Amino acid sequence: MNNEKAFHLLRNSLTNKSTGFTPEERKQNKLEGLLPAAVETLEHRVARAAEQCDQCPDDLARYVFLAHLQDVDETLYFALLISKPDKYMPLVYTPTVGDACLKFDRIFRSSRGLYLPITEKGRLEELIRNWTEPDVRFIVVTDGSRILGLGDLGSNGMGIPIGKLALYSAAAGVPPQFTLPIMLDVGTDNDDYLNDPFYMGLKQKRPDNDTYYEFVDEFTSAIQKIYPGCCIQFEDFNIHHAEPLLEKYQDEFCMFNDDIQGTAAVATAGLYTACRAKNETMKDQRILFLGAGSAGCGIGDLIAQAMQADGLDKETAYSQVRLFDIDGLLTKSRADSLEPFQRAFAADHEPTKDFVGMIKAFKPTAIIGVSTVHGAFNADVLKAMSEINERPIIFPYSNPTSHSECTAEEAYAGTDGKVLFASGSPFPPLSVNGSEIEPSQGNNVYIFPALGLAVYATKAKRVTEKMFLTAAQALAETLTEAELKSGLLYPPRDRIREVSGHVAAKVAEVIFDDGHASVDRPSDMAGFIKEHTYQPSYAPHQL
Ligand code: NAD
Repeated sequence: MNNEKAFHLLRNSLTNKSTGFTPEERKQNKLEGLLPAAVETLEHRVARAAEQCDQCPDDLARYVFLAHLQDVDETLYFALLISKPDKYMPLVYTPTVGDACLKFDRIFRSSRGLYLPITEKGRLEELIRNWTEPDVRFIVVTDGSRILGLGDLGSNGMGIPIGKLALYSAAAGVPPQFTLPIMLDVGTDNDDYLNDPFYMGLKQKRPDNDTYYEFVDEFTSAIQKIYPGCCIQFEDFNIHHAEPLLEKYQDEFCMFNDDIQGTAAVATAGLYTACRAKNETMKDQRILFLGAGSAGCGIGDLIAQAMQADGLDKETAYSQVRLFDIDGLLTKSRADSLEPFQRAFAADHEPTKDFVGMIKAFKPTAIIGVSTVHGAFNADVLKAMSEINERPIIFPYSNPTSHSECTAEEAYAGTDGKVLFASGSPFPPLSVNGSEIEPSQGNNVYIFPALGLAVYATKAKRVTEKMFLTAAQALAETLTEAELKSGLLYPPRDRIREVSGHVAAKVAEVIFDDGHASVDRPSDMAGFIKEHTYQPSYAPHQL
């Protein structure tokens, strides 16, 4: 091909600067004539991209626009995201990504990442070696079996690894060239997709457990062989596979599950902040959950650890955490029917389905909703919490908004404005006792990108529970006194990069303390994290 170098510079999203190429670069790389005359700064190109994004008719169209931008110029894409995290993150991840996954086969323009079909079992190493980047440090992988609250979306779930990895780079600064989204295409049990001519995944049902686990084992072994030390984040796997995979792999190689561990850390961070607001400690808290699935039990375990870090013994810590599922309180009498990950919470208590009655008996300082039951935190629940707490902590964490156990407005109104509130889905600002309140959203984006940056910078060999607990504590430290006073439990998202830097430095300390780092310990941890933080720039070194 004529002028191959120029072709690759312009077509590779990591090297393309388009009108950002300087006259010297254009001359040196035979780009003259291939670009308009204007030579533009990155800031100028961001302003144009922002206008183009604004002109899109709706959020899904903005998602498609941003995906295209990522495919042609990643520097511009990340510079745009970082320019207004609060505006752009919801467009590349939740809530827009849910809609994008549902219609992934319809909005598809070009392929990003790796698709590993189960029909190629036995050949995964060969397929993974087709990836063009030589060094991969971070993988987000899904099998599409439980995408957000939307169920089995098969290979349409690829929007999730792509979106999560974008947040690694945008929210914390893991360099994008080291990241790789992967879809383990093991088929789907979603008949709508199986019968849809545009669906692009394997048109077959999901396999039996033996075949499935063999396939995932082949995948993880191949990754460790090709990219030793690479961290694998498991995302949106069905709970019946997510828990056993985490249990099996977490001591074997560098991996974690964000739905379980990241959620736990962000919710625990909210509790730490609420403790700061109340001038109390974690060991003073008593937590009652509505919902005992992967989110509820993951959060419950980390809270119990936080209480132990405060000095409680394990038994007492677990006795201060109680969970309800669809059949009522988790009790010892139900032990045989409980999942292994639920058993630590089985209470020595008679069976009950009366949540309000349990509030009166157990006297929780906090209730956390992870049940997906809209309206479950009704006026009676809020009143019962107000009667026993000066400042009741109420976290309706179920997503999307239509599944939230209560709205922010209901929580403030039902507690005379005394509530310490955080939700899974965003709620609009509201006026309480004459002040404007911005309801807090416990978004996992406060945790996993920062933890990822620490793992990347230290070349950590493992991801541990202690790292998540440290991340939760560090996140709670980032709120200013003024933010705390205004009722916020999480920092504003526009401060996300600064917050991530603080959390990453604290997590990195633990990685070094516990001997999980593969590099020498620096004397200045904050400076070390900063050095490893990706900043989008059209610097000449990119050529
Ligand atoms: P899951 O399906 O594993 O668990 C749901 C639990 O709710 C089960 O224990 C079920 O028995 C219980 N439940 C259902 N109906 C109930 C009822 N009427 N009364 C009491 N309990 C009931 O789901 P999950 O992965 O644990 O997620 C739960 C919710 O938490 C989802 O809405 C999810 O979006 C949300 N979540 C939010 C975040 C976040 O915002 N950071 C993170 C993870 C999960």
